[in-house]
Amino acid sequence: GDVLLEVQDLSVDYLTLNGAVSAVSHASFALRRGEILGLAGESGSGKSTLTTALLRLQRSPAVTVGGKVLYHGDDGIVTDLVPRTDKELLHLRWNKLAIVMQSAMDALNPVKRLGAQFVDVLRQHDPRMTEKAALERAGDLLALSGIPRDRVDSFPHEMSGGMRQRSLISLALACDPDLVVMDEPTTAVDVVMQRTIMSQVLRLQRELGFAIVFVTHDLSLLLELSDRLAIMYAGKIVEIGPSTELYHHPSHPYTKALRDSFPPLYAPLVEMRGIPGTAPDLMNLPKGCAFAPRCTRAMEVCGTTRPELVQVSEKADAACHLNDPQRETVGAGPSDAR
Ligand code: SF4
Ligand code: MG
Repeated sequence: GDVLLEVQDLSVDYLTLNGAVSAVSHASFALRRGEILGLAGESGSGKSTLTTALLRLQRSPAVTVGGKVLYHGDDGIVTDLVPRTDKELLHLRWNKLAIVMQSAMDALNPVKRLGAQFVDVLRQHDPRMTEKAALERAGDLLALSGIPRDRVDSFPHEMSGGMRQRSLISLALACDPDLVVMDEPTTAVDVVMQRTIMSQVLRLQRELGFAIVFVTHDLSLLLELSDRLAIMYAGKIVEIGPSTELYHHPSHPYTKALRDSFPPLYAPLVEMRGIPGTAPDLMNLPKGCAFAPRCTRAMEVCGTTRPELVQVSEKADAACHLNDPQRETVGAGPSDAR
């Protein structure tokens, strides 16, 4: 399908007293209209930083230090979001690009009735809309997420965590966006509610056709929801491709480790194994592959040379020396990584 977002070489630094730390390093990928892209990786891998940088919502000390985020409007106009000011971006936010934050409690205004919060967003987008029409639309949007319309009169604290999170999703959809970014949208609610919310999101996505960038550390949930997956490690995308391919035939040892650390949904409950070793210290990354200290397949080259993201199949790219072409001539391809 059509390209919606093209991310080119996007890098985000955290400015610290000890210097700049690369939180996202040279991320490149494209997102098609209506596509669901899952971002996975352990905490600290750069998932949240990347998603907020996509929408230019990153806060100090995070700074975008390079790259482009090209938004392809349905009018054919391509806009690089990176150099835009907040004021210039205001029109695109909500209207075209929306975000659902991790915590509804932080995202919703605690002293405002839910309906009034919808009215603010809707009228910022369309100042000619009457308050009555906006409240009507708020009710429709809440109903979309299975929330009774009369909840427009409620304050956030009068609702359950699940209901708050669902109303946040409705709010994100208020102006019919092309893209909804969801950063761990269900971490604040229990597992049953998570599944209810996510199946609702999926139904709405099919109905309304928006694209989703979905962040979670739960690979099995991502696998179920996403068309494609991007796996992040130490600020880099280390593998990206169709979800089923990455799950069943990972080309990167980290993807495999991440997969194996999660029991499949609905499978008999097995103990969740963490990935052995400690998460990388961004201040102090190894010279070669950042995963090398934890990788059971590490070779000499892994300690000296950083692997680049290269095409490993028709639709997947990975950054791992196991996929280097010269390795195939000695008979060891990525297949023995499985
Ligand atoms: Fe492991 Fe080497 Fe591949 Fe890194 S490049 S994931 S250390 S095999
Ligand atoms: Mg996060």
